[in-house]
Amino acid sequence: MGNKYNRVLLKLSGEALLGEQGHGIDADILSSYAKEIKSIQEADVQVSIVIGGGNIFRGVKGATQGMDRVQGDYMGMLATMINSMALQDALEQIDVQTRLMSAIRMEAIAEPYIRRRAIRHLEKGRVVIFGAGTGNPYFTTDTAGSLRAIEIESDVILKGTRVDGIYDSDPEKNADAQKFDTITGDDVLKRRLSVMDLTAFTLCRENKTPIIVFNMNKEGNLKKIVVDGKDEGTTVV
Ligand code: UDP
Repeated sequence: MGNKYNRVLLKLSGEALLGEQGHGIDADILSSYAKEIKSIQEADVQVSIVIGGGNIFRGVKGATQGMDRVQGDYMGMLATMINSMALQDALEQIDVQTRLMSAIRMEAIAEPYIRRRAIRHLEKGRVVIFGAGTGNPYFTTDTAGSLRAIEIESDVILKGTRVDGIYDSDPEKNADAQKFDTITGDDVLKRRLSVMDLTAFTLCRENKTPIIVFNMNKEGNLKKIVVDGKDEGTTVV
Protein backbone atom coordinates (compact mmCIF):
# COMPACT_ATOMS: atom_id res chain seq x y z
CA MET A 1 0.00 0.00 0.00
CA GLY A 2 1.48 3.31 -1.07
CA ASN A 3 1.51 6.59 0.74
CA LYS A 4 -1.09 9.20 -0.06
CA TYR A 5 1.63 11.72 -0.90
CA ASN A 6 5.14 10.90 -2.03
CA ARG A 7 6.75 14.31 -1.95
CA VAL A 8 5.60 17.06 0.39
CA LEU A 9 6.53 20.54 1.44
CA LEU A 10 5.77 21.28 5.07
CA LYS A 11 5.41 24.94 6.03
CA LEU A 12 5.88 25.61 9.73
CA SER A 13 5.46 28.98 11.35
CA GLY A 14 8.28 30.47 13.33
CA GLU A 15 5.80 31.84 15.83
CA ALA A 16 4.67 28.31 16.76
CA LEU A 17 8.19 27.60 18.02
CA LEU A 18 7.64 30.09 20.83
CA GLY A 19 5.41 27.71 22.76
CA GLU A 20 4.58 29.31 26.07
CA GLN A 21 7.75 31.40 25.96
CA GLY A 22 7.87 35.11 25.17
CA HIS A 23 10.79 34.72 22.81
CA GLY A 24 13.15 32.16 21.30
CA ILE A 25 12.65 28.49 20.56
CA ASP A 26 10.83 26.02 22.80
CA ALA A 27 12.92 22.83 22.95
CA ASP A 28 9.91 20.53 23.48
CA ILE A 29 8.03 21.90 20.49
CA LEU A 30 11.13 21.62 18.35
CA SER A 31 11.70 18.00 19.27
CA SER A 32 8.04 17.09 18.81
CA TYR A 33 8.16 18.60 15.31
CA ALA A 34 11.28 16.59 14.57
CA LYS A 35 9.54 13.36 15.66
CA GLU A 36 6.49 14.08 13.52
CA ILE A 37 8.71 14.74 10.52
CA LYS A 38 10.71 11.57 11.12
CA SER A 39 7.49 9.53 11.19
CA ILE A 40 6.75 10.36 7.56
CA GLN A 41 10.35 10.32 6.35
CA GLU A 42 10.62 6.75 7.71
CA ALA A 43 7.59 5.84 5.63
CA ASP A 44 9.58 6.86 2.52
CA VAL A 45 7.88 10.20 2.02
CA GLN A 46 10.21 12.79 0.49
CA VAL A 47 10.06 15.70 2.92
CA SER A 48 11.00 19.33 2.41
CA ILE A 49 10.41 22.08 4.94
CA VAL A 50 10.13 25.85 5.08
CA ILE A 51 10.04 27.38 8.53
CA GLY A 52 9.20 31.01 9.27
CA GLY A 53 11.03 33.48 11.45
CA GLY A 54 8.21 35.32 13.20
CA ASN A 55 9.35 34.20 16.66
CA ILE A 56 12.56 36.15 16.14
CA PHE A 57 11.99 38.99 13.69
CA ARG A 58 9.50 40.30 11.15
CA GLY A 59 10.38 42.99 8.63
CA VAL A 60 7.00 44.68 8.82
CA LYS A 61 7.28 45.00 12.58
CA GLY A 62 10.72 46.57 12.25
CA ALA A 63 9.33 49.04 9.71
CA THR A 64 6.56 50.15 12.07
CA GLN A 65 9.27 51.02 14.56
CA GLY A 66 11.12 53.14 12.04
CA MET A 67 13.53 50.61 10.58
CA ASP A 68 14.16 50.45 6.86
CA ARG A 69 11.77 47.79 5.54
CA VAL A 70 14.27 46.02 3.33
CA GLN A 71 16.84 45.88 6.09
CA GLY A 72 14.19 44.42 8.37
CA ASP A 73 13.15 41.85 5.79
CA TYR A 74 16.71 40.61 5.44
CA MET A 75 16.85 40.32 9.22
CA GLY A 76 13.64 38.28 9.03
CA MET A 77 15.25 36.00 6.45
CA LEU A 78 18.22 35.49 8.76
CA ALA A 79 15.75 34.65 11.53
CA THR A 80 14.41 31.81 9.39
CA MET A 81 17.96 30.47 9.13
CA ILE A 82 18.22 30.31 12.91
CA ASN A 83 14.98 28.33 13.12
CA SER A 84 16.06 26.15 10.20
CA MET A 85 19.35 25.34 11.91
CA ALA A 86 17.53 24.53 15.15
CA LEU A 87 15.17 22.19 13.31
CA GLN A 88 18.06 20.62 11.42
CA ASP A 89 19.77 19.91 14.72
CA ALA A 90 16.63 18.42 16.27
CA LEU A 91 16.22 16.11 13.26
CA GLU A 92 19.83 15.01 13.23
CA GLN A 93 19.63 14.29 16.98
CA ILE A 94 17.10 11.59 16.17
CA ASP A 95 19.12 10.26 13.22
CA VAL A 96 17.28 11.89 10.35
CA GLN A 97 19.58 12.92 7.54
CA THR A 98 19.04 16.50 6.50
CA ARG A 99 20.33 19.18 4.19
CA LEU A 100 19.84 22.88 4.78
CA MET A 101 19.69 25.01 1.65
CA SER A 102 19.70 28.77 1.87
CA ALA A 103 18.29 31.30 -0.57
CA ILE A 104 21.05 33.67 0.59
CA ARG A 105 24.60 32.40 0.33
CA MET A 106 26.01 31.27 3.68
CA GLU A 107 28.52 28.62 2.70
CA ALA A 108 29.73 27.84 6.21
CA ILE A 109 26.33 26.69 7.41
CA ALA A 110 24.13 25.84 4.43
CA GLU A 111 24.26 24.80 0.80
CA PRO A 112 23.09 27.38 -1.69
CA TYR A 113 19.62 26.62 -3.00
CA ILE A 114 19.92 24.77 -6.28
CA ARG A 115 16.69 23.20 -7.45
CA ARG A 116 18.18 20.12 -9.08
CA ARG A 117 20.33 19.44 -6.08
CA ALA A 118 17.36 19.79 -3.74
CA ILE A 119 15.44 17.19 -5.75
CA ARG A 120 18.45 14.87 -5.68
CA HIS A 121 18.64 15.13 -1.88
CA LEU A 122 14.93 14.33 -1.63
CA GLU A 123 15.32 11.31 -3.88
CA LYS A 124 18.05 10.06 -1.56
CA GLY A 125 15.70 10.32 1.42
CA ARG A 126 17.23 13.38 3.03
CA VAL A 127 14.94 15.91 4.62
CA VAL A 128 15.60 19.22 2.88
CA ILE A 129 15.07 22.46 4.78
CA PHE A 130 14.80 25.60 2.69
CA GLY A 131 16.07 28.59 4.67
CA ALA A 132 16.16 32.35 4.12
CA GLY A 133 12.72 32.50 2.52
CA THR A 134 12.74 33.42 -1.14
CA GLY A 135 15.92 35.46 -0.65
CA ASN A 136 13.95 38.60 -1.49
CA PRO A 137 12.46 41.32 0.69
CA TYR A 138 8.70 41.99 0.59
CA PHE A 139 7.89 38.28 0.56
CA THR A 140 6.87 35.88 3.29
CA THR A 141 7.87 32.37 4.17
CA ASP A 142 4.41 31.23 3.04
CA THR A 143 5.37 32.47 -0.41
CA ALA A 144 8.76 30.79 -0.12
CA GLY A 145 6.91 27.58 0.76
CA SER A 146 4.60 27.85 -2.26
CA LEU A 147 7.46 28.71 -4.57
CA ARG A 148 9.67 25.84 -3.47
CA ALA A 149 6.73 23.41 -3.47
CA ILE A 150 6.06 24.26 -7.10
CA GLU A 151 9.70 24.19 -8.10
CA ILE A 152 10.37 20.75 -6.64
CA GLU A 153 7.00 19.45 -7.86
CA SER A 154 5.70 18.69 -4.41
CA ASP A 155 2.38 16.80 -4.38
CA VAL A 156 1.01 19.14 -1.77
CA ILE A 157 1.89 22.00 0.56
CA LEU A 158 1.11 21.23 4.18
CA LYS A 159 0.61 24.25 6.36
CA GLY A 160 1.12 23.26 9.97
CA THR A 161 -0.79 25.48 12.40
CA ARG A 162 -2.12 25.29 15.94
CA VAL A 163 -5.74 24.97 14.80
CA ASP A 164 -7.40 22.01 13.08
CA GLY A 165 -7.92 23.59 9.67
CA ILE A 166 -9.75 26.42 7.93
CA TYR A 167 -12.87 27.74 9.67
CA ASP A 168 -15.58 30.17 8.62
CA SER A 169 -14.38 32.45 11.43
CA ASP A 170 -11.44 32.48 13.85
CA PRO A 171 -11.83 29.39 16.08
CA GLU A 172 -9.61 30.96 18.74
CA LYS A 173 -12.08 33.85 19.04
CA ASN A 174 -15.42 32.28 18.13
CA ALA A 175 -16.58 29.04 19.79
CA ASP A 176 -19.19 28.47 17.03
CA ALA A 177 -16.67 28.58 14.20
CA GLN A 178 -17.27 25.82 11.63
CA LYS A 179 -14.40 23.92 10.08
CA PHE A 180 -14.29 23.01 6.40
CA ASP A 181 -13.02 19.56 5.36
CA THR A 182 -12.42 20.74 1.83
CA ILE A 183 -12.91 24.13 0.25
CA THR A 184 -12.25 25.50 -3.21
CA GLY A 185 -9.77 28.27 -3.82
CA ASP A 186 -12.64 30.43 -5.15
CA ASP A 187 -14.51 30.06 -1.86
CA VAL A 188 -11.43 30.95 0.15
CA LEU A 189 -11.19 34.20 -1.80
CA LYS A 190 -14.93 34.91 -1.78
CA ARG A 191 -15.18 34.42 1.97
CA ARG A 192 -11.91 36.27 2.53
CA LEU A 193 -10.53 33.44 4.63
CA SER A 194 -6.93 33.75 5.60
CA VAL A 195 -5.10 30.61 4.53
CA MET A 196 -1.86 32.16 3.37
CA ASP A 197 -1.02 35.60 2.09
CA LEU A 198 -2.38 36.29 -1.37
CA THR A 199 0.94 35.96 -3.20
CA ALA A 200 1.54 32.52 -1.69
CA PHE A 201 -2.06 31.45 -2.24
CA THR A 202 -2.13 32.62 -5.85
CA LEU A 203 1.08 30.77 -6.66
CA CYS A 204 -0.45 27.52 -5.42
CA ARG A 205 -3.72 28.11 -7.24
CA GLU A 206 -2.14 28.94 -10.57
CA ASN A 207 0.03 25.87 -10.39
CA LYS A 208 -2.65 23.58 -8.99
CA THR A 209 -0.73 22.64 -5.89
CA PRO A 210 -3.21 21.58 -3.21
CA ILE A 211 -2.87 23.18 0.22
CA ILE A 212 -3.71 21.33 3.41
CA VAL A 213 -4.04 23.36 6.59
CA PHE A 214 -3.77 21.14 9.65
CA ASN A 215 -2.92 21.05 13.34
CA MET A 216 0.80 20.37 13.70
CA ASN A 217 0.52 20.21 17.49
CA LYS A 218 -1.60 17.03 17.47
CA GLU A 219 0.60 14.00 17.72
CA GLY A 220 0.38 11.69 14.71
CA ASN A 221 -1.64 14.13 12.59
CA LEU A 222 1.03 14.68 9.95
CA LYS A 223 1.42 10.96 9.33
CA LYS A 224 -2.35 10.43 9.19
CA ILE A 225 -2.60 12.97 6.40
CA VAL A 226 0.51 12.19 4.38
CA VAL A 227 0.82 8.44 4.78
CA ASP A 228 -2.69 7.19 5.61
CA GLY A 229 -4.57 9.73 3.49
CA LYS A 230 -6.96 10.65 6.33
CA ASP A 231 -9.01 13.84 6.04
CA GLU A 232 -7.54 15.64 9.01
CA GLY A 233 -7.35 19.39 8.47
CA THR A 234 -8.79 21.29 5.52
CA THR A 235 -7.80 20.68 1.93
CA VAL A 236 -7.94 23.60 -0.49
CA VAL A 237 -8.50 22.26 -3.97
N1 UDP B 1 11.06 37.42 4.69
C1 UDP B 1 11.38 38.07 3.52
N2 UDP B 1 11.38 37.37 2.33
C2 UDP B 1 11.01 36.05 2.26
C3 UDP B 1 10.64 35.41 3.46
C4 UDP B 1 10.68 36.11 4.66
O1 UDP B 1 11.71 39.25 3.52
O2 UDP B 1 11.03 35.47 1.16
C5 UDP B 1 11.18 38.13 5.98
C6 UDP B 1 10.00 39.04 6.30
O3 UDP B 1 10.48 40.19 6.93
C7 UDP B 1 9.19 38.21 7.30
C8 UDP B 1 10.29 37.47 8.05
O4 UDP B 1 11.28 37.20 7.05
O5 UDP B 1 8.45 39.01 8.15
C9 UDP B 1 9.89 36.20 8.75
O6 UDP B 1 9.10 35.37 7.93
P1 UDP B 1 7.52 35.16 8.19
O7 UDP B 1 6.93 36.38 8.78
O8 UDP B 1 6.94 34.62 6.95
O9 UDP B 1 7.57 34.02 9.31
P2 UDP B 1 6.35 33.26 10.06
O10 UDP B 1 5.18 34.19 10.12
O11 UDP B 1 6.01 32.03 9.26
O12 UDP B 1 6.94 32.91 11.39
